[in-house]
Amino acid sequence: MRKPNESASQKLTRREALGRVALTGLGAASILSGAGELARLSAQAPAPVQAAPLPATDPKYPMPPAWNRELRQLAPNVYAYLQGGGPGIPAAGVSNPGMIAGADYLMAIDATQGPIPARAFIAASKQATGKDFGRLVNTHHHGDHVNGNQFFTHAEILGHPYCREECVKAAATTPKTWTPTPGVADAAEERKLVPPSVTFKDDLTYFIGGTEVQFRFAGPAHTWGDMMAYLPQYKILFAGDVAFFWVAPYANNSYITKWIEVCDKIAGWDVDVIVPGHGPIGGKKELAEMANYFRVLGVEARKRYDAKMTPGAAAAEIRLGRFDNWIGPERLIMDTVRWYEEWDSTLTPDYNAMAVREATIEYNQVKAGQKKMSEIIPLSRMEALAEPC
Ligand SMILES: [Zn+2]
Repeated sequence: MRKPNESASQKLTRREALGRVALTGLGAASILSGAGELARLSAQAPAPVQAAPLPATDPKYPMPPAWNRELRQLAPNVYAYLQGGGPGIPAAGVSNPGMIAGADYLMAIDATQGPIPARAFIAASKQATGKDFGRLVNTHHHGDHVNGNQFFTHAEILGHPYCREECVKAAATTPKTWTPTPGVADAAEERKLVPPSVTFKDDLTYFIGGTEVQFRFAGPAHTWGDMMAYLPQYKILFAGDVAFFWVAPYANNSYITKWIEVCDKIAGWDVDVIVPGHGPIGGKKELAEMANYFRVLGVEARKRYDAKMTPGAAAAEIRLGRFDNWIGPERLIMDTVRWYEEWDSTLTPDYNAMAVREATIEYNQVKAGQKKMSEIIPLSRMEALAEPC
């Protein structure tokens, strides 16, 4: 085990940390943020596309594939609307919805992040089937899955009670107009967050156009209210954000230990195809890899937790091998914070924006001390991740 980094393991006050990072050459404007901005972080802020440098990739390991945006038919009347992505493509925050076509109407599984992807998903679905949406099931409350709900108000919207509660809370502070953002919104049009109007806690089954769609709640994982859609005839699982493939999993509202358990549970289901919330279509192998991301991080973070290192200093040291090349590598910081909260028994369903912020500042401080300026993560990037996905 490595010795803890003495200077970094000392807990800095926020002011000290901000000052030290500012001295390393980062622009003060990019790191200073008032209480108002932090309040905004917990709300459903728009997620700007980030163009800042990422932590280094590792040439020893494969890079993620690139995949196209497309409405892909997986079985009769069953489709996934895949967002394009791949290395260097800033699409980690745009989720993959699903669509089941019935005799009279379409069912959507998630509503995407904003006007551009929601309208594109609706248009592609109508073009493929000649039908309109009559039901929408949100897999969970994160903005990139529910912010598009306002474009499905002609449909009945369903979700787990926790998903509804979080949407109701977020709706109170949702801006009244969209901020034009590449890939999300192209105009400052009216914006509102529409929570699910129907909730269900346990398994719920729809029979639509000959397709059996079982909604399954497998316990807290990515959030405390994750719903998945399992299609037994075709062995297809729309996993929502219980699955991230080639994209670093986002754990800001997660119970990582239970999330791994849910992945292990799915391994026992009769599933061939998994549509992840983020990344290209895969299967159980890819889901097991995502669980391995958390296991590897858990082992590395635990060594440093036991050595009394802070989560930011720990994250700056940790290398994840093949997982370092996954899209969204900066999520290592938030995921380390989340592991620490489990071990400290301070875990709640809520996102701890301040802890992630402090950890990012400490992470940057270590990188700056090592003169690895290209690996410094702008706080604006982490703040953009406060828009959960
Ligand atoms: Zn999510």
